[in-house]
Amino acid sequence: MRWVTVETEFGPRACGVWQGEYVDVNSADPELPSSVRELLALGSEAQHRAWTAMPRGFVRHDPANVRLLAPVPDPRKIVCLGLNYRDHAIETGAPIPPEPVLFNKFPTTLIGHEGQIVLPEVSQEVDYEAELVAVIGRGGKHIPRARAMEYVAGYAVGHDVSARDWQLNKPGKQWLAGKTFDTFAPVGPMLVSASEVPDPHNLGIRLRLNGETMQDSNTNQLIFRLDEVIAYISQIFTLEPGDLIFTGTPPGVGMAHKPPVWLKPGDVVEVEIDGLGTLRNTCVRHGA
Ligand code: MN
Repeated sequence: MRWVTVETEFGPRACGVWQGEYVDVNSADPELPSSVRELLALGSEAQHRAWTAMPRGFVRHDPANVRLLAPVPDPRKIVCLGLNYRDHAIETGAPIPPEPVLFNKFPTTLIGHEGQIVLPEVSQEVDYEAELVAVIGRGGKHIPRARAMEYVAGYAVGHDVSARDWQLNKPGKQWLAGKTFDTFAPVGPMLVSASEVPDPHNLGIRLRLNGETMQDSNTNQLIFRLDEVIAYISQIFTLEPGDLIFTGTPPGVGMAHKPPVWLKPGDVVEVEIDGLGTLRNTCVRHGA
């Protein structure tokens, strides 16, 4: 099952990606919600029911003619891991962390496939980071590691855009400030159900900047895998349906290059993960 959120004149609408079209879930079954987050909250049975109803959906969008939002455009939480790839921690000169390094983004960071990354006037060092994003299906607190993967609804391609001057050069190293500028969390193009991803910890992940490969790794390099991450963070807060977990980035980020590579207006960034598709976004200057 593959889900997207389409921008329409009636607001964001949940659609299934079915036979080359985006089929409006609520038009296929009027008892089902028009929000992907609400569909996830209803559980896997409702998602299967929605998928089975796809042939009856009478509101259909041609992918060429609609704008996508992030698959879950309104999550309650966006939780992110820093330094979670062995090879990336080595690249930045940071020690392999003994416990997960956590930060977060606000929902105002979210944009979808083909959305524009706005480069803020106040940053001169905006960097890219390819990431696997896990989407929570079932909520819970103190989730046991052995059952943690049952709480994942699916996966999407993510991009953790990062203003390094704000992340690293402000008093106290304020990761939140550097990571949560508006538009700094492209996610998409779609949410792919966990049942279609046999092993999330063995997926090729790549990032291309204007066609040139800058990151090329595999999620088998993750230091803290999803089951451990979910068990760890659910000690702190309650996970809710639709929450997003950005799992960290592999090596090759712009700041590790000599000289460093920063995003500039007109740059096209593509993040590709095996089985999840390609997320493409263009950078624009603030106010442009
Ligand atoms: Mn990151």
